[in-house]
Amino acid sequence: MTVLPIIKGKDEDILRAKAAKVPQVTKEIKKFIKDMHETVEKAEGLGLAAPQIGQSLRLCLANFNGKMTPLVNPEVIWSSEETSTMEEGCLSLPKINVDVTRPVEIMVRYEDIDGKEQERQLHDLDARVVQHEIDHLNGILIIDYK
Ligand code: ZN
Repeated sequence: MTVLPIIKGKDEDILRAKAAKVPQVTKEIKKFIKDMHETVEKAEGLGLAAPQIGQSLRLCLANFNGKMTPLVNPEVIWSSEETSTMEEGCLSLPKINVDVTRPVEIMVRYEDIDGKEQERQLHDLDARVVQHEIDHLNGILIIDYK
């Protein structure tokens, strides 16, 4: 496993691009996910999206239900009307914290590392982390909420 360098800066093209769908969870993708895992643990983050380490793919890791979980091609298929506001940071934007308002509860659909479709209903911080990571796949950063 390898700790990969995290791309930093609000104007990096890859952090501003809409990432491409992962066609299939190949051996290479699985290895990449392991490296992402190592990287996010080292950085003590709650999540990490593939574009942050140089791959413009719809793939991220997010900590929810107490576990760092890989999400392939994740999408929010439902979100609550109720919102909450909380200060967020980002591994790609050191020393920047922004109050971000997001739905409190979401339903997320994604593929797991075996390519199996999963759905999870998440709330509070778990939901927030997943929304933050999916934002990365769409080229959105926390500073856009300012
Ligand atoms: Zn981030």
